[in-house]
Amino acid sequence: MNATCPAHESSVCCDAEKSESLAVRAARLAESLEKGVREFIVATDQNLGDIELQIERQSRELQRQATEKAAQKKAEATPPLCPVCKQKLSRVSGGHGRSFESRFGTIRVERERGYCKRCRKWRFPADVVLGLEETAGYSPRVQEMSALLASKMPVAEASVVLEHLTGVKVPRASLDREAKRQGQRARRLRVKLDEQACLGRAHGVQTEMVLEPYQMIIQMDTWNIRERDEWGQTPKLRRRGQEPERWHWVYTGTCFRLDQRGKTAGGRPVISERGFVATREGIDELRQQLHAEALRRGLGQAAGALVIADGAVWIWRLADDRFGQARQRLDFYHAVQHLAAVGKALFGEDQQKLKEWLRPLAKQLKHQSAIKVVERLEEILESLPEGALAEAVAKEVNYLKEHQDRMDYRAAQRRGEPIGSGAIESTCRQNQCRFKRPGQYWSQEGDEALLCLEMFWRNQRWSLLFPHTRQVDPSKN
Ligand SMILES: [Zn+2]
Repeated sequence: MNATCPAHESSVCCDAEKSESLAVRAARLAESLEKGVREFIVATDQNLGDIELQIERQSRELQRQATEKAAQKKAEATPPLCPVCKQKLSRVSGGHGRSFESRFGTIRVERERGYCKRCRKWRFPADVVLGLEETAGYSPRVQEMSALLASKMPVAEASVVLEHLTGVKVPRASLDREAKRQGQRARRLRVKLDEQACLGRAHGVQTEMVLEPYQMIIQMDTWNIRERDEWGQTPKLRRRGQEPERWHWVYTGTCFRLDQRGKTAGGRPVISERGFVATREGIDELRQQLHAEALRRGLGQAAGALVIADGAVWIWRLADDRFGQARQRLDFYHAVQHLAAVGKALFGEDQQKLKEWLRPLAKQLKHQSAIKVVERLEEILESLPEGALAEAVAKEVNYLKEHQDRMDYRAAQRRGEPIGSGAIESTCRQNQCRFKRPGQYWSQEGDEALLCLEMFWRNQRWSLLFPHTRQVDPSKN
């Protein structure tokens, strides 16, 4: 024990020096800021942007020192317990230094290391307390910035934008790795939250009485993403006569309460609270994630549920399987496309005739009944001679007959329900803008990690992933 005493004393002395230098530095900074302001006032070629940037740069070193000091003090106050099992650590030794890139530049933290006999692992308890354990050397704020920027723009751009706006330097490859690491963390958290939702302990589940009964609207759709193939697999596949598959489906879903759907002054529909799900890992994953999301958004208390989508078979199968009590509706515009396909078979390229024929039928479908429309199509079909034309028309008629029970648009409008799946289609479009830029290639793991980050952001659950952001917007907690 005696051996640690001199080290302890010197660290106290060192602390005093540091805290003094922080105060002295603050006074010196104040002086230099005032000098800068005086010069700014008389500078004819400077606007406010110049002084903003100057103050930012001048203050940075003080902010860095304050951050480093805070980190060091907190590390020293951390008891030598295993962060996982809470057991007292053995063979504890201090002075294990490591550098981290923080919001204000590089900081160095000396922390203790100890061995957990129960976990049979070396531990750095301070790293967990400071939020530094799952990173390649970046502070939580920089971890967050990397994750957010990488989920919003290509990594090369993200690295440049980050440095330009904040002075934080994260090279492109590091930013890519850090964002993926945070994405993996987001995936693990998503699994945990989904399990809790299914057990009824969901974050944000309403516990208050539901005064007005509401409907839960669920929509699904897909878009595709291009991925680079596994390393070196292309020649091998080609020798076997196979072409590597680079396009893959991203399964997407959204859910919201009908009573939370309104209109802007301009008449555009808006939804105040909406849940989003997107996964590259197949229909089963979508089914689980969307169900959990719907539960979090109040499916359990809903008077009823409604699934709206285009005609893809997998969607109705998923709906039967996971949302068995829900009503089903075929997207109106999708139904009209099938009507138009009949028109095209009948009138070819004659747009005018097609329009004249289609308009009253679409109107009838929307405001009267699908049964009448299908009857009308069957009459047409009977009048056609056997052949390619009749076959083309029969195909569309069969499609519409199959979905007849999903086309009660008149009743839907009376109840104020949506008749189309526009909400999910716009979501898919937005996702494609980010994930489908020219020349972009992804890996499945990278895709899923970034999609997961994007969904935490959209679902206003960012602060569950990065708790420090509760300070930014407490309502998004
Ligand atoms: Zn342990």
